[in-house]
Amino acid sequence: MAKKPQVICLYCNNKFYREDEEFEQIGRRYAHKKCVQEVDKIHQLMQEKCGELYSKNKIDAQINKFTKDGYELEHIWETINWWFGIRGEDASKANGGIGIFPHVYPDYMQEKIKKSKYKEVLQDQKISDFIDEPKKSYTISKKYIKKPKRVKLFELP
Ligand SMILES: [Zn+2]
Repeated sequence: MAKKPQVICLYCNNKFYREDEEFEQIGRRYAHKKCVQEVDKIHQLMQEKCGELYSKNKIDAQINKFTKDGYELEHIWETINWWFGIRGEDASKANGGIGIFPHVYPDYMQEKIKKSKYKEVLQDQKISDFIDEPKKSYTISKKYIKKPKRVKLFELP
């Protein structure tokens, strides 16, 4: 059966066949389901952090620009979550958007690499590396061992 023509994902700008991927229709456009989920997470977080300043249209436009510039949606979400969610940076200067993303992205990636390297190191080391093994065995010199005194149980008359 012939497939329907490819569509372009509204968010990641990649082409896909609707027969092959989970997708959602947004207005007259289409988007991967996983992309919709990433974008939703960004919106949810920013809405929570920016309150009344939050601007859905602005963020959608910014996401669109970033993905066109070659950034991955997953990294945009991770970075934004790291900056505002985990680090708790002040979102009042964000003007309801995520314009900060390209500026803090390199820091986030560096942090991520550091963490994954740390994990690798931990995985490579065996438990025994953390435990000091006895370097030599000790023998107790005989002169320190007292011979038990002979105990007379009873004396014969
Ligand atoms: Zn997509």
